[in-house]
Amino acid sequence: MIMVLKKESTSTQVDHLISWLKGQGLEVHIFPGDKGTVLGLIGDKKKIDIELLAGLEIVEAVRDVTEPFKQCNRRFCPEDTVISVGNAKIGGGHFALIAGPCSVENEEQILQVARQVKAGGAELLRGGAFKPRTSPYDFQGLGAEGIRLLLQAKRESGLPIVTEIMNINALELFAEVDVIQVGARNMQNFDLLKELGKTSKPILLKRGLANTLKELLMSAEYIMSEGNQNVILCERGIRTFDTYARNTLDLTAVPMLHELSHLPVVVDPSHATGKAGLVPPMAMAAVACGADGVMVEVHNDPLHALCDGAQSLDPEQFADLAKKIRALRSVI
Ligand code: PEP
Ligand code: MN
Repeated sequence: MIMVLKKESTSTQVDHLISWLKGQGLEVHIFPGDKGTVLGLIGDKKKIDIELLAGLEIVEAVRDVTEPFKQCNRRFCPEDTVISVGNAKIGGGHFALIAGPCSVENEEQILQVARQVKAGGAELLRGGAFKPRTSPYDFQGLGAEGIRLLLQAKRESGLPIVTEIMNINALELFAEVDVIQVGARNMQNFDLLKELGKTSKPILLKRGLANTLKELLMSAEYIMSEGNQNVILCERGIRTFDTYARNTLDLTAVPMLHELSHLPVVVDPSHATGKAGLVPPMAMAAVACGADGVMVEVHNDPLHALCDGAQSLDPEQFADLAKKIRALRSVI
């Protein structure tokens, strides 16, 4: 439920109302805005007398949020959420380009790619240390050593880093990681989401291979309901009947999620398409339909990548794409 307060209400009146609501056992989220403060209320609705609230002198309107997702709901918080990571900002008109290899392979590779993507125009460096591979016989990532190398690349390049967590027991290794990624395969690992909700780290939450937008938003809600409001949604393609591309990039998700939620939306055209040649056009399409960021896989030697080489851009292709994205953003 949300309460829109009148613009002319004083801070004493607002504070008084908030403490009264809290006294009723409600969780109160406060969103100050130009048109007056909006209060988001979470709690047992049966205990609330809506007529009474609506009749209060400083209340403009009381509205029920009927969707099951509350804290990530656009109606709960009308302003776009902006997430700051290092010097980068994502959401509310701010755009970030995230680039790097599928997996951290060795020191030379990650340091070189970090330098190259920075020079090309990336604001964040990505790289997997813990890899969710379909086959147990494939490269599983360097684990803790991969995180150590990413932190070295962060220090040397100055780029904030994004990397995936698969098991909450590894959380202490992520202390200096800037954005924790929850991969498509873990989108509904609710225990993991709840634990990440107890941290204050930005979480890049990827849409599951066969999950609806409502399910994605409910997973964001799991993180937010534990206190962490720093969630970035990521569309990375869903499984459909076509087999030419690795997945089907659902770009409708971008404007739809913006309508439903105030959280930033990033698009990953690399896992969505599986083919390097399809990445630039789909990245441009993502920008054109309003994505707050694009995450692409870049490798210094795609032919010899240990993971996802076919969908990885080389540094030159990445720099070219970054230039085109800047040009496109300047006209939309
Ligand atoms: C990744 O980004 O490294 C990854 C494994 O992606 P996804 O979870 O979308 O498959
Ligand atoms: Mn990959």
